[in-house]
Amino acid sequence: MKSLDDNLSVLGGVGPKSVEKFLKLDLQTVGDALLYYPFRYEDFQTKSVLDLMDGEKALILGEVVSPASVQYYGYKRNRLRFSIRHGEIIVAVSFFNQPYLADKIEVGAQLAIWGKWDKAKASLTGMKVLSQQQEDLQPVYHVVQGVKQSSLVKLIKTAIDEGYLDLVEENLPVDLLVRYQLLNRQEAIRAMHFPVDIDQYRQALRRIKFEELFYFQLNLQSLKYENRRADAGISIAFDSSALGEKIEKLPFVLTEAQQRSLQEILSDMASSGHMNRLLQGDVGSGKTVIAGLAMYAAYTAGYQSALMVPTEILAEQHYESLSQLFPELSIALLTGGMKAAVRRTALAAIESGEVDMVIGTHALIQEGVNYQHLGLVITDEQHRFGVKQRRVFREKGENPDVLMMTATPIPRTLAITAFGEMDVSIIDQLPAGRKEIRTRWVKHEQLPLVWDWVGKEIEKGAQVYVVSPLIEESEALDLKNAIALEEELQAYFGERVRIALLHGQMKNQEKEAIMQDFKSGKTDLLVSTTVIEVGVNVPNATVMIIMDADRFGLSQLHQLRGRVGRGDKQSYAILVANPKTDSGKERMQAMTETTDGFVLAEKDLQMRGSGEVFGTRQSGLPEFQVANIIDDFPILEEARRVASQIVSEPDWQANPKWSMLVKELNRPDRLD
Ligand code: ADP
Ligand code: MG
Repeated sequence: MKSLDDNLSVLGGVGPKSVEKFLKLDLQTVGDALLYYPFRYEDFQTKSVLDLMDGEKALILGEVVSPASVQYYGYKRNRLRFSIRHGEIIVAVSFFNQPYLADKIEVGAQLAIWGKWDKAKASLTGMKVLSQQQEDLQPVYHVVQGVKQSSLVKLIKTAIDEGYLDLVEENLPVDLLVRYQLLNRQEAIRAMHFPVDIDQYRQALRRIKFEELFYFQLNLQSLKYENRRADAGISIAFDSSALGEKIEKLPFVLTEAQQRSLQEILSDMASSGHMNRLLQGDVGSGKTVIAGLAMYAAYTAGYQSALMVPTEILAEQHYESLSQLFPELSIALLTGGMKAAVRRTALAAIESGEVDMVIGTHALIQEGVNYQHLGLVITDEQHRFGVKQRRVFREKGENPDVLMMTATPIPRTLAITAFGEMDVSIIDQLPAGRKEIRTRWVKHEQLPLVWDWVGKEIEKGAQVYVVSPLIEESEALDLKNAIALEEELQAYFGERVRIALLHGQMKNQEKEAIMQDFKSGKTDLLVSTTVIEVGVNVPNATVMIIMDADRFGLSQLHQLRGRVGRGDKQSYAILVANPKTDSGKERMQAMTETTDGFVLAEKDLQMRGSGEVFGTRQSGLPEFQVANIIDDFPILEEARRVASQIVSEPDWQANPKWSMLVKELNRPDRLD
């Protein structure tokens, strides 16, 4: 019996070698392949050269009017030339290093050539000769090294031809399909890969997005519904005088905005309802200390609390600062990279209730972690804390209050829809005495001046971050760049500057040691890939140099810049970039004009249309395979309406009408 869970090897033409390759894309079963959608299409519709801009790629039709000649110049380098009549125009065509094409070029033949238009020379640099029956739209998939686009296309075609698409079950009730005029699931999946035309593709896209967002909302709404029950939450009766004493003893006075946010959090905790709150505040606004105080409050009421962060370095850092803040408490660290024995001890102490606070990464919600009276869970920046994670805690027998912290300003309406009915607290004020970070944008040519200045700053006692360029496509290249940069700087500064390198592929212990040296001032300059992005706190670091800054999005740049300006000294951010695009220039400009995260987030949203990526990663906003929570907001709203209608029906899960939904929600591999 055929099944969507069949291994790819059952398909014709797929051997063990291919199976191994597709595994790199996480494609294991035939079902995986069918649901691996392209992220865009190459539009092979034919165009007239008269409509083309300089440098534009297009498919051009024409009749060959001069025979092909091949000119060789050097090893494996050659150029094939001929011309075609395209309407009334004669177009010169060149193909580089594809001499074998000469066979196809016969005078009088009709050709379709995919190429790049040079307006000034009225010539076309050919890339492909296509048969005229070729489909107009060709899917483009995300691939990795060793996997070709064409082999993915072939794989998915074969799966469909062998009848696997017929096994895909509908997962939206008929009345929703009718109400919203959605394609059925099989049609939609076929059209996601091989649409007849762009219109059909859009229909398919709408259906798949609806499906994703609807299930997301159904999940969220059903949880919310359960949480609304009177006994859903816990009432944390904290000791306010003990907490007040703690606040008194802080080395600084809380800002008004911090006090207000803390009050809001504490009153949620004290009430028997379930807390579901978002704490927003720009980098450096002092969210962490508020989190710590909330955790302390939970402790005074006899509850454990947990703080979950995205990276091990951050976990270490929070662990340290909370240990300093609350030396009398027992605080445990839990990360994936811990030695088994250390981990076992920590787990036992957490389970017995000996531990008051737990700080860690995702390891906090893994199997085998059992809490004793967990009252409060806090998640920090860039962290996805979805419905699934919350259910994990509930299934462990607790329904703790939840506080999420983010440095990315998220519009209120969006926050509500994306996270459920959330309450929002905002720290919109920086601690007193902070100096605005001075930001300059320089070109690569000016680097010698920059390094010269950096040397002088270091002599004056400053510490410096240098962030190496981001290579999205390749972690290996990322690393290579960072190493090269470190060597270059070492050669430039020689003995007088102590330089260290930090990158994502290092072992945790190594990373820790390097961060520790930087914190304690043993290193002057830290070359790093983007691993320092989030939350790292070194008040003496006052200079941030970002190489090829135009490769980063606005919110990422803002996050990086926020690593400096954490103490009372004047800090600087230098963006090194020769941007090629207008949006790159705009981003550099925006960064030099403001340090206000809310203004930059607005800008980021505006620029989205031009292909920029809003920092959803940092914000903790949910991400989907196809849908985008910002672009597809209208669909999201609609999905939310339908989902909340359904979950408000009494005993909806028992209604056979919705059995399809219950089954889909309970699928073990659901992402959310
Ligand atoms: P965030 O987590 O919002 O990025 P942090 O909580 O890490 O910010 O705070 C940044 C720095 O400011 C820390 O060194 C912290 O001790 C300090 N800080 C926090 N609140 C205040 C305050 N009210 N006054 C002075 N310094 C503060
Ligand atoms: Mg923080």
